[in-house]
Amino acid sequence: MKKVCVVGGGAAGLMAAYAAAKKGHRVTLFEKNEKLGKKIYITGKGRCNFTNDAPAEEFLQNVVRGEKFLKGAIYTFPPQKTIEFFENNGLSVKTERGNRVFPASDHASDVTKTIEKACKNAGVELRLNEKVVNLITTPNIIPMSDIIDSSMKDIIPMPRIVGLKTEKGEYACDYIIVATGGLSYPTTGSTGDGYAFAKELGHNIIPLKCGLCGLNLTGNTYKSLQGLSLKNVCLTVNNGGKVVYSGFGEMLFTHFGISGPLVLTASSLINRLAIKNLTISLDLKPALDEQTLDKRILRDFEKYKNKKLFNALVELLPQKLISVVLSIAGISGEKSVNIVTKEERVNLVKALKNMPLKAESLRGFEEAIITSGGIELSEVNPKTMESKKVSGLKFAGEVLDVDAFTGGFNMQIAFATGFAAGNSIKE
Ligand SMILES: Cc1cc2nc3c(=O)[nH]c(=O)nc-3n(C[C@H](O)[C@H](O)[C@H](O)COP(=O)(O)OP(=O)(O)OC[C@H]3O[C@@H](n4cnc5c(N)ncnc54)[C@H](O)[C@@H]3O)c2cc1C
Repeated sequence: MKKVCVVGGGAAGLMAAYAAAKKGHRVTLFEKNEKLGKKIYITGKGRCNFTNDAPAEEFLQNVVRGEKFLKGAIYTFPPQKTIEFFENNGLSVKTERGNRVFPASDHASDVTKTIEKACKNAGVELRLNEKVVNLITTPNIIPMSDIIDSSMKDIIPMPRIVGLKTEKGEYACDYIIVATGGLSYPTTGSTGDGYAFAKELGHNIIPLKCGLCGLNLTGNTYKSLQGLSLKNVCLTVNNGGKVVYSGFGEMLFTHFGISGPLVLTASSLINRLAIKNLTISLDLKPALDEQTLDKRILRDFEKYKNKKLFNALVELLPQKLISVVLSIAGISGEKSVNIVTKEERVNLVKALKNMPLKAESLRGFEEAIITSGGIELSEVNPKTMESKKVSGLKFAGEVLDVDAFTGGFNMQIAFATGFAAGNSIKE
């Protein structure tokens, strides 16, 4: 039996603790908050979309970073195992559109309660209000990061975990599983402590970026659209002539710029690019090509031929959008429909099919759903989640350089990597 310390009581830490305890190890979990799973409570708008019931292969297609690394963990502990785990521990679940799985009660708190109970039953000691401040290893005379000559690595023993320090005391242990989450929604406790622990012990941290977040737009052109939600539109992001994202669906104009499903997805794909240099465009009528759209406009013009242009587009566009589109097209809404020129109509079609949006930056970590970047995956064994630099040190969940789209994929990654970390600790 090994002594295992888990740092962090979120999805990854709880599953890691459970899996290690089930293997017969003595497990202590440290959570700095007064309760477990503070982030779980706010997931899925309080309903917690805790996994996505897709086959492993399809699941992995929704991973933005770390697909190859996660393959083993997801095949070993796929969404179906997560569902089984929760059902076996008394939680009724339901599957909604897009294979999204929720607790049948629609209460995220039931997910936390279930996994907390499973941990307690498995014998995990839960230490709340106890922040881990330092990880202790065997003396490492030369920091690994200072070893320049790679041949030296073979003769210098790898440092090994021997314990950790919290604000309340010191604990000896054989293994530490760091599951401290990322940086997003820091009020839930995810303040990046794990990155500091890993860095201190010689690990590389891939730069941290916001993922699944909104975009701040430049200027005031779109301020009047605040609150406008659009369906069936196509958002395209171009970087130096290369399409880096194109998606069809829903989006939203906000007080800062744009958000909603299409924008969240796009943000995770563009967060390592220079946002200001991107060309973003919105196709408001993706179902119609330019010719068909022009015919449709002509029909509306015929119907409203004695009206002002502004009043002739009410069937084509939501009220709030009309003046913005007309201003992009460079036509006055006060103009009478019967004197609109063909050239103006061409410009109107262009504005509808290719509405330009100039982004300034990503929103901040306070609002991002996920942190992209983290502990470099090449320094972690994907089967055991153990560090290749410090023996006995493991990582699980968002602290790793892994992230995925919305739909329950991120929590499943936390569960699967947590399970791999805990379950792989041998006698
Ligand atoms: C608003 C929002 C909605 C989301 N909705 C969904 C969703 O519906 N489905 C989905 O799949 N994903 C969702 N996510 C993403 C998902 O919540 C995370 O990917 C997942 O919870 C990460 O789990 P984790 O255990 O790695 O980290 P976290 O949940 O961040 O847990 C880390 C824990 O470690 C603790 N901790 C940190 N440092 C220390 C320390 N030094 N000592 C002790 N404890 C420490 C923290 O207090 C925290 O409890 C959402 C995220 C947000 C912000």
